[in-house]
Amino acid sequence: MHPKYFIQMNLKTSENQVFSAHIISWYRANPRDLPWRGTADPYRIWLSEIILQQTRVTQGLPYYYAFSDAYPTVRELALAPETEVLRLWQGLGYYSRARNLHACAKYIWHELGGNFPNTYQSLLLLKGVGSYTAAAISSFAFGEAKAVVDGNVFRVLARYFGIATDIASGKAKKEFEALANELIPKDNPGEFNQAMMDFGSRQCTPQNPDCESCPLKSSCFAFQNDLIKELPVKINKTKVKERDFHYFVIRCGEDWVWKKRTAGDIWEGLHDFPQSEKAPVSISKISEAEPSPFPKKYRHILSHQKLNASFSELQIPIERYPDLAEWCENEGYMLVAEKEIEYLAKPKLIVNFLNDQGI
Ligand code: SF4
Repeated sequence: MHPKYFIQMNLKTSENQVFSAHIISWYRANPRDLPWRGTADPYRIWLSEIILQQTRVTQGLPYYYAFSDAYPTVRELALAPETEVLRLWQGLGYYSRARNLHACAKYIWHELGGNFPNTYQSLLLLKGVGSYTAAAISSFAFGEAKAVVDGNVFRVLARYFGIATDIASGKAKKEFEALANELIPKDNPGEFNQAMMDFGSRQCTPQNPDCESCPLKSSCFAFQNDLIKELPVKINKTKVKERDFHYFVIRCGEDWVWKKRTAGDIWEGLHDFPQSEKAPVSISKISEAEPSPFPKKYRHILSHQKLNASFSELQIPIERYPDLAEWCENEGYMLVAEKEIEYLAKPKLIVNFLNDQGI
């Protein structure tokens, strides 16, 4: 640990109460009108929490409305086809969230008789629900005193209490969770959790926190010791992988050749085009025969991958490839009429490419 920092553990109950009271009164003074606030429906809360994982509120809001309109209860979501769910999710990224959402809805509807799990421990059994989401749902919907801990909470606690633990380390989660669970008022856990989320994202922001107007500034360790830029400590070890995607956009009359992506790589269940990662030369007899001299290039950034994508477009004459449908079937591709393309669930990169084509 850096000698400048100290950990102010073993807090006295009264100090905990002061911290919690300040956070809650800040929250009441800075209300935010969000559609999932003020509801105790665990389905709606779960929907919002899954959508908001790795997503900003402004980006997630339209998806929340779209999902709650299309699937007002867990029943409608459970009975929807997966392609429809993925299509509605399109553009939000991290598609495993949509697949898990759908799998959970089916599990709740078919196995639990439509009864949403109502404790932190039972929520943790749902696919895609980790400790943060389980704490959010159990505290908001069922009043269970379980603290949420995410990047916002790490930041507020690290700064306020002067905690120098690397938040990317394995032990950080346990340590911060223990502290947050000490702080959470047993009689008002839901509001405290919402207050911590909002306080971290709006007042104690990563860059330029608004310390001057902060009700905690007189007792905030980082503010008092001029350590706001240093806290929280995060030693980034994540390596970003760079990949080359050479796409072949094969069109024959009104039909396009598509591929549904399989498990074991990014974008499982979404649709893109025949693709090679090795060399930009060819992917099939067709692309060898009909090369495109000017591939269009795109750069696409995911959380742990950077994609350099090139799209070579091949417009092939129907008379030269009468057995195209059979070829597609043998190669694991599918032929999709242009007017049907909008109904396919596609990664953002492909949507961007299509938009540039006026599709
Ligand atoms: S004083 Fe600044 S750093 Fe401390 S809790 Fe408030 S906003 Fe965060």
